[in-house]
Amino acid sequence: MIVVLSKNISSHDKDRLRSFLSERGFSVREQVFGDDDILGATGKGSVDIRELSLLPGVERVAQTSKPYELASRETKSDDTIVTIGPVKIGGSRISVIAGPCAIESREQIMETAALVRESGAVMLRGGAYKPRTSPYAFQGLGMKGLEYMKEAGDAYGMPIVTEVVSPELAQQMMVLTDMFQIGARNMQNYELLKKVGSLGKPVLLKRGPAATIEEWLLSAEYLLASGTKDVILCERGIRTFETYTRNTLDISAIPVVRKLSHLPVIVDPSHAVGIRAKVSPVALAAIAAGANGLTVEVHPRPEEALSDGPQSLYPEQFEKLMRDIEALAPVVGKELMRTPAPVSAERKMVSGGFNLKGSSAPAAQKGEPTGKGTGEYAIAFSGESGAYADQAIIRAFGEDSNRVAVPSFKAVFDAVLEGKARFGMVPIENSLAGSVHENYDLFIRYPDIAIVGEIKLRIVHCLIGAKNASLDTVRIVRSHPQGFAQCREFLDQHPEWVLEPTTDTGGAVASIARENLSDVAAIAGEVAAQLYGLKVLKEGIETNPLNYTRFFILSRRESGTEMEVPSLLHTGAALPPGYESQIPNKASIVFSTPNEPGSLFACLKILSERGINMSKLESRPIPGKPWRYMFYVDVSIPEEETVFDSAMEELKTKTEDFRFLGAYRASL
Ligand code: PEP
Ligand code: MN
Repeated sequence: MIVVLSKNISSHDKDRLRSFLSERGFSVREQVFGDDDILGATGKGSVDIRELSLLPGVERVAQTSKPYELASRETKSDDTIVTIGPVKIGGSRISVIAGPCAIESREQIMETAALVRESGAVMLRGGAYKPRTSPYAFQGLGMKGLEYMKEAGDAYGMPIVTEVVSPELAQQMMVLTDMFQIGARNMQNYELLKKVGSLGKPVLLKRGPAATIEEWLLSAEYLLASGTKDVILCERGIRTFETYTRNTLDISAIPVVRKLSHLPVIVDPSHAVGIRAKVSPVALAAIAAGANGLTVEVHPRPEEALSDGPQSLYPEQFEKLMRDIEALAPVVGKELMRTPAPVSAERKMVSGGFNLKGSSAPAAQKGEPTGKGTGEYAIAFSGESGAYADQAIIRAFGEDSNRVAVPSFKAVFDAVLEGKARFGMVPIENSLAGSVHENYDLFIRYPDIAIVGEIKLRIVHCLIGAKNASLDTVRIVRSHPQGFAQCREFLDQHPEWVLEPTTDTGGAVASIARENLSDVAAIAGEVAAQLYGLKVLKEGIETNPLNYTRFFILSRRESGTEMEVPSLLHTGAALPPGYESQIPNKASIVFSTPNEPGSLFACLKILSERGINMSKLESRPIPGKPWRYMFYVDVSIPEEETVFDSAMEELKTKTEDFRFLGAYRASL
């Protein structure tokens, strides 16, 4: 049983609670759990829960039906997000840890760190103490190896994780490692768990090769009860009668554990299968099954590896896997986290002064942590909580971001322009219903607003109603017109329903929660139903499941950087955390052309001659100039930045009102 204490509990009340529980036969321990202080009460005591709940200083009492309490979702319903330096694991992100099985030399770990980071790994792994089946096999470089890995992690900006094999070594290793790994063989080494848990560092807990899910969660409980609050569970294959693969990946453990526990679950496909060619397919299956990330063995030359070479990926295989994960992630409502591009790959400033790295607004961003603490500034979106734009912000800025709902898209632009919000999130186009023209038009009216990022969200629509509603009681359906357009086929099956357009999907759901009518339903995402405590009457009602919405992240330009060619890419706008050192590979521009034959053709020719790919061309009427149009163009930024520079320079000479809306990293 867990007693969550009120934030302002007095020490007198706390002492009283302790005696109350011990007098009734419980042993009591106090600890921090998530954001709360709790008293954990274990043993065979008995107590009247209502009486306990009413005692001063008690926020709530959580009782679980499981033998593990701190690890149970019954105790904590929201996903735990584990923070390791700048890296977060859990929630809607996919985080990939990669590195060799064992640290073999300084050069080997440096080389591996560089290449896994280049492909997007967020943490570096490597064994310094190797628990090998044979006593004659390579046992690892020990503390020297760990020092090498720490150096590599620091050099490439990645926190490190390494296996700890004995309680005696834990203290010593703690200074150098960012996260401890408890290996499969040690999952039930309870003295080790207690010692490592007491150090308070994040722990990656592998599942034992013959452990049940309950035993695994009880081992997590040992760690949590000993003091750490950050545990990541790692499924790495279990022992079965099958001998073709090294172990058998228990894919079903992923959704099972995600339901039983709030802790993040990652998968180690390398030890699960033991065969290089099988690692990527099962890794993708793990992501599809809901894993929060992976830990993958990668070696620059696997055939030379001192341990686990046959299951280590070649660098190119790892790169391909990461690209595949990036493409798969939106399908399961997640996004692959990437470490910004490595320092060595930074592009130099080109002659014209275009800064392809983008740049942060010096005044606005100074002193602010990146990757966390985004709650300190506002990010505006149009609609009400639970709208898809709200989810897009969570994807880009995290759950603890300060999301501010405003009544319209124009209000988002205004909030960013006036500095009331640091960033804005607006939808720009949907793969089924097309462009959100209002936002295209707003870019023309707000020259000081730049695009600094792109997010693609898979849209799964649900019909949502009050608790007492069903498909038969519905008469009226509310949603954003895009919601109706994307669910055309489903709505056509119910011609009797009256459609009431709203300004956003979140607002449609909020109105149902307020009115609580069984004859009104809304089309929105499942998150909105959960948020407002409503019922999903039917899930997945969009006409085509390949339904994505592209959002732009907006930021205000530094004044004076608006249109001069030498600062095209240097918009001076503040960038979201984690985006500062990303190399943009996509840009959006808008221009009009002289009213003469071939003028648009001449512009497109400039792009085509340089091999610049155009991914979108959209024309919009120019207000006040009947039958004249602005052209919105999305283009790729080629590797060779001078090519891009010259294309933009030339475009300026062939167009009227050329405007560079922003350069950003394309979301897959
Ligand atoms: C490892 O990750 O290097 C390792 C030894 O894994 P496991 O404990 O899962 O066998
Ligand atoms: Mn290994």
